[in-house]
Amino acid sequence: MNDSAAHGLDDPPEDFRSPAGAGEGTRVVRAGLPEPVKHEPALPGPVFAAHFHLPGDPTGPYTYGRDENPTWTLLERAIGELEAPGQDGVETVVFASGMAAISSVLFSHLRAGDAVVLPSDGYQALPLVAGQLRAYGIEVRTAPTGGDAQLDVLDGARLLWIESPSNPGLDVCDIRRLVTAAHARGALVAVDNTLATPLGQRPLALGADFSVASGTKQLTGHGDILLGYVTGRDGEAMASVRRWRKIVGAIPGPMEAWLAHRSLATLHLRVDRQNASALALAQALRGHPEVTGLRYPGLPDDPSYTIASQQMRRHGCVVSFTLPTRARAERFLDALELVDSATSFGGVRSTAERRGRWGGDAVPEGFIRLSVGAEDPEDLVADVLRALEESAR
Ligand SMILES: *Cc1c(COP(=O)(O)O)cnc(C)c1O
Repeated sequence: MNDSAAHGLDDPPEDFRSPAGAGEGTRVVRAGLPEPVKHEPALPGPVFAAHFHLPGDPTGPYTYGRDENPTWTLLERAIGELEAPGQDGVETVVFASGMAAISSVLFSHLRAGDAVVLPSDGYQALPLVAGQLRAYGIEVRTAPTGGDAQLDVLDGARLLWIESPSNPGLDVCDIRRLVTAAHARGALVAVDNTLATPLGQRPLALGADFSVASGTKQLTGHGDILLGYVTGRDGEAMASVRRWRKIVGAIPGPMEAWLAHRSLATLHLRVDRQNASALALAQALRGHPEVTGLRYPGLPDDPSYTIASQQMRRHGCVVSFTLPTRARAERFLDALELVDSATSFGGVRSTAERRGRWGGDAVPEGFIRLSVGAEDPEDLVADVLRALEESAR
């Protein structure tokens, strides 16, 4: 089931070679760890503190728990090492959720009179954000991710927001091309890197100003914590993001931050397993008589494949497809035994849902988003094919 050749794992693009020479698995297990201290654990435990001892003049780094916390610092260092290995001056700021991270970039950088370009097929909360931005006098333009359609609405924009691959449609755009066009017009570029994870895609290496993601999904991978982060290389821009976190207080708890850091150590193992299984599942679904609109960016005949293989190292753990009707899709979900009915994605246990049940996404009634977990791939593929067959009756 190891299809590393199809993922290009044996021949990583230049951007993915570690300057220090260490392999990704090696870097992942050590990411963000402090120098070893005798009698201390490798990853120091969570620091629970609303305030820190602070006699005299109030100097940093640790003064008050909404501003900074040593458990965040280690996690931020770890994520930064994965998003932009070997790059000096890169900063990461962690948040209570992906939406907190997204909002921090948008609301700290946009003012009344600015224009922003969002994807029209992005994460389902983006239309809510767009409504709020408009209420503040910001012009919001949208265009689909596929076909680099955002290029057509860039003139005069202050910020371009990219989500590639997009959730749930799994379209991919040419990030470098969009960044070049946006920068030529003086616009900043942020990329939502949730679906790819930093092991699948490095937006800063592709020229973006910010890589933003929900750590709730595959980054932490166990479906038990909410987290978000922003990584960027411009000190002033990142200072605004950090100030925004202080203003709104959208901070992760120390326990969540510590759990996230602990979970990062297995990121490499999880993504390799889950993404290879996602490809295997996509291949098994291809040609099934009732399945239409099958999407997986790692599938060689997928519309996203060409550009995805150029800018991504791994293609994610989400497969999407459409069954003929809503009832047909519901029967299929009920018949699954190894795939939990749940929203979200990226966890070690496979999940699936009929996306149309939420409203909002422009998807057919029978559209299924399936997140592939870390089960044995043969078991998972067999369960999905069996459920398809049993629910056909
Ligand atoms: C889930 C998700 C978010 C929001 O993250 P939360 O952690 O749920 O706030 C943003 N972008 C994408 C692509 C997502 O999948």
